Amino acid sequence: MRIIQERTITDEVKKLALDANCDLGTSFIDLLREKIKSEKSEIGKNVLEQIVENDEIARLEKAPMCQDTGLVVCFIELGYDVHIEGDLYEAVNQGVREAYEEGFFRKSIVRHPLDRVNTNDNTPAITHVKLVPGDQIKITLAPKGGGSENMSLVKMLTPAEGIEGIKKLVLHTIFYAGGKPCPPLIVGIGIGGNLEKSALIAKEAILRDLDEENPDPILRKLEAEILDEINKLGVGPMGFGGTTTALAVKISVHPCHIASLPVAINLQCHASRHKTGVI
Ligand code: SF4
Repeated sequence: MRIIQERTITDEVKKLALDANCDLGTSFIDLLREKIKSEKSEIGKNVLEQIVENDEIARLEKAPMCQDTGLVVCFIELGYDVHIEGDLYEAVNQGVREAYEEGFFRKSIVRHPLDRVNTNDNTPAITHVKLVPGDQIKITLAPKGGGSENMSLVKMLTPAEGIEGIKKLVLHTIFYAGGKPCPPLIVGIGIGGNLEKSALIAKEAILRDLDEENPDPILRKLEAEILDEINKLGVGPMGFGGTTTALAVKISVHPCHIASLPVAINLQCHASRHKTGVI
């Protein structure tokens, strides 16, 4: 049994939160640069150039790339052979607290959805824990902006609606969201499970590497088809029109009830912030 102190987890979360808010990584910025070349609209090109410039400044000056520094979502894979001396959830919240103070990041969390009083330290984070074999803790931290989260949804389709129903829902959602979720987007689609499972796997899907191929050939084909159709909608970068509405579509599936076809669509804006660390 490996013993890990609460403080060690806090330090890792703090590092990941500081890093995630400022640095999208050069490969993501290079992908956006590539999209400038293929974008058909002049305004769309201009918007993409501004996004790239903004992201480079943020990376080099260690400043947040967006004023909305998000609600922190933490996916933790906790090894069976780890004993934590302390409280895992408090360790995460303390790391968030310290990072948001030190980084001068906006504090965006209210203590209650109806009285709307700001907690002033960006906590609590939303922490999902999965038990896995081993003696390590893997933390993937994603500050999730309100704009793109607000345009996300879960819908319980009927099985008869099938693939066509899913496509229709995705295209309708993205078209009517327009510029609100700050495209170009990464579109996470969770199909199956139940109400909450579909939402969870949709969120996990937006955190996958963009160049990682879906191992399921049917889903891989569907991802490509949906991406193509999204980019024909004309929404474009930040909704100003163009051919770069989404950068990727990532689909995850889970077994479900014979009567159900849950579909969750989690939209990730161009501030696609997430970092992973292992303790
Ligand atoms: S949706 Fe994303 S890019 Fe837009 S304001 Fe929110 S965090 Fe920033």
